[in-house]
Amino acid sequence: QGKKAGRRQVVAFDPDMLGDERHRRFIERELRAALLMDELELYYQPVFDGQMRLRSHEALVRWRHPVRGTISPAQFVPIAEESDLIDKLGDWVLHRACADLDRLGTPVAVNISAAQLRRGDFARRFADVLAECGAAADRLIVEITETVPLVAGAIEQANLEALRASGIKVAIDDFGAGHASLQYLRGFAFDIIKIDRSYVANLGDNRIDAMIVAAICDIARSLDVEVIAEGVETEIQLDLLRRAGCSAFQGYLLGRPSPLAARQVANAA
Ligand code: C2E
Ligand code: MG
Ligand code: MG
Ligand code: MG
Repeated sequence: QGKKAGRRQVVAFDPDMLGDERHRRFIERELRAALLMDELELYYQPVFDGQMRLRSHEALVRWRHPVRGTISPAQFVPIAEESDLIDKLGDWVLHRACADLDRLGTPVAVNISAAQLRRGDFARRFADVLAECGAAADRLIVEITETVPLVAGAIEQANLEALRASGIKVAIDDFGAGHASLQYLRGFAFDIIKIDRSYVANLGDNRIDAMIVAAICDIARSLDVEVIAEGVETEIQLDLLRRAGCSAFQGYLLGRPSPLAARQVANAA
């Protein structure tokens, strides 16, 4: 391990590569290695219900690169989505999250790229991992993230139907920020809407955002699905979101993403 790591450090990172094709290939090659070399880690962020009881955790991937330091998923997920890397990353995340389920003590939400949903065998492979880990389906939530356009095609619908039939809950992530959020309400059956944090950020002073949030909560009530507000940073936002009818809350005000080890230390203290 040490020897291999030493050899990889010869591939020094050149910041000038940012944004170009060589950068993309660099990230892709390094991420393949990272998956084998245990450089990835899951952070968990708590989600609370209306009574401020801990209801679940969201798993958020982190990459500790030996040379570049911590790389954000916003930087490498879009590159992974261009190849089978996104499936390998997804497998790794799911295995890790299932292994952590008992210690978390709550259901866990994993992020799934729309690119993964296009694979015909996605739901079957997902179920295989759960079986391998002995994880109960009703302890898993899948958050569909639209970094590539999400299409309500037959394969996507079949995958989501199979997940839901097994007891897994499906959430539409970043609702309102996507290419066609309202279309998803028609095209997919799901259990949870996560309001994009861009609508939460200015809730105190932007009337339009407050109206949109209230409208999303109304739609969710009619559809009988839950609404989670993400990016809650202030008490004012929390209060407005509650009054608008959100059923659950996530954000720095309530808890930042952190490694499981740190959470256990905090709990023990
Ligand atoms: P997301 O799923 O919408 O996750 C929420 C993001 O908001 C996380 O960023 C989280 O750290 C951040 N966040 C949480 N609370 C607050 C807050 O109060 N204020 C602010 N400003 N930010 C907050 P992160 O961890 O950098 O992840 C970014 C995105 O990367 C995620 O957005 C998700 O789309 C994607 N991602 C993360 N992990 C995975 C993964 O395992 N697989 C896939 N496919 N995508 C992932
Ligand atoms: Mg998410
Ligand atoms: Mg997102
Ligand atoms: Mg989100």
